[in-house]
Amino acid sequence: MPRIIDIHMHVGLIGDKWPEMGRMSAWYRQQLTYKIFLLYAGISPDDACDQALWDKTVDTLNSCDLDHVVCLALDPVYDGGGVRREEASHVWVDNAFVIKLKKAVGPKVLFGASVHPYAPDFRERTAQCIADGAVLMKWLPSAQQFTLSDPRARNALEFLATARNGKPLPLLLHCGMEYAIPTMDPRTQSYDLLRWTWTDKTRNFFRRKRDKWNTPDINGIHDTLKAGMKAGAQIIFAHCGTPYFAGNILGGLIEHDDFPVVKKFIKKSTEPGYSGTCYGDVSAFCTPFRKKYFKDVKKLPSDHILFGSDFPTPAFEIFADAKEHHEDLKAVLKGQFERIIVPQDNLLDVNYRELRQAFGDHPMFSRFADLADI
Ligand SMILES: [Zn+2]
Repeated sequence: MPRIIDIHMHVGLIGDKWPEMGRMSAWYRQQLTYKIFLLYAGISPDDACDQALWDKTVDTLNSCDLDHVVCLALDPVYDGGGVRREEASHVWVDNAFVIKLKKAVGPKVLFGASVHPYAPDFRERTAQCIADGAVLMKWLPSAQQFTLSDPRARNALEFLATARNGKPLPLLLHCGMEYAIPTMDPRTQSYDLLRWTWTDKTRNFFRRKRDKWNTPDINGIHDTLKAGMKAGAQIIFAHCGTPYFAGNILGGLIEHDDFPVVKKFIKKSTEPGYSGTCYGDVSAFCTPFRKKYFKDVKKLPSDHILFGSDFPTPAFEIFADAKEHHEDLKAVLKGQFERIIVPQDNLLDVNYRELRQAFGDHPMFSRFADLADI
């Protein structure tokens, strides 16, 4: 039986009990997204503390029907000088926290490591994570405040290409708009983008000075990705770079879309000249917003798609009654908690079941076993 592997689950902590293992800022804990995450994780905001988050996470992992779930760390910001800046991160999760979780739950948990590419000891820390069982590396450029066009990111990606005894440690790279984990520095919001269109430029023009985004060096970012692929890297583009609202509510014109670039990179990696490979994951796809992308994802080479949830991002029973849906979605967007109907089953299972129904017998569900050699 092929094993079902969810490659994209977020875990986290507030920092009240284990402050050395991560933190969520006071500001972040006031945000609607945070409250929605708690709701979907099954925790009431008044009860939120490290112990409650831990208990719920362990319970969710133990009770789900999946074979493996990659739980993700998130390294804090390292500034341009390579200095670790935990206080400059709204959310960070230490690698040790995921290792602790893996010890508590067992082999069902796979270790998704995170090491900032500006960390002066990037190679040593990455090697230690691999020794501790890391199956991939997670980067979120906007919130971690680095750009892929920096030579340190390029060196780091080339290092990942052969980091596991000559084999790659896959990189799970966030791309496109980020709503879940905001950056403390608005200028870096553009660092997840893989293209910079006239709409992006126009939007930026009208932003107040203190809210303006840095213009990303798109050529530099692509050069880093290509250099990584030449060296043999495995790059997984989270959410296939698709916009979250996906044209249903905000309209494709309004929301940035990196899907065309991701498609190109995936295609490029099937051509000769690159020993590396590009993939896209379908995490946070279990929403009516992204349903219209299912047919496009089905057209991509099937071995290049990976299954994931992005837990605790809301998962919807997308094949349920359409009207119920609509009401649910409106309630989520307005933050009307009392009207949101959270699926009663384990959310990891709901996500799997719905995507299985959408994609049928697709290799995405077990494909990661080959990448991680498990
Ligand atoms: Zn995510």
